[in-house]
Amino acid sequence: MSGNGLRSTRRHKQLRVQFRQACEAEDRPCCICGLPIAYDVPGAIGDGFALDHYHPVSQRPDLVDDWANFRASHSRCNRARGAGAPQAGLGTLSRKWL
Ligand SMILES: [Zn+2]
Repeated sequence: MSGNGLRSTRRHKQLRVQFRQACEAEDRPCCICGLPIAYDVPGAIGDGFALDHYHPVSQRPDLVDDWANFRASHSRCNRARGAGAPQAGLGTLSRKWL
């Protein structure tokens, strides 16, 4: 089952705005690549913010509006990861030593 419809609800859009503001206040980095997110980019493009679901909506549609399941990510990283991809990138902050 596709989770796309779940992400377009009014409730989810409100949560996404609130979550983005919370992440911007903390200047939270991308959960996938660990680099800073360009919060001044308005849309979900390139280095701009995208809401990532730790448990993909395609697998856990019940968690689509669960704040604890939200992660900050780059739009491009989120898109590259795709729905249902494994969580392999989350623990590997290989650029930390740079
Ligand atoms: Zn990233």
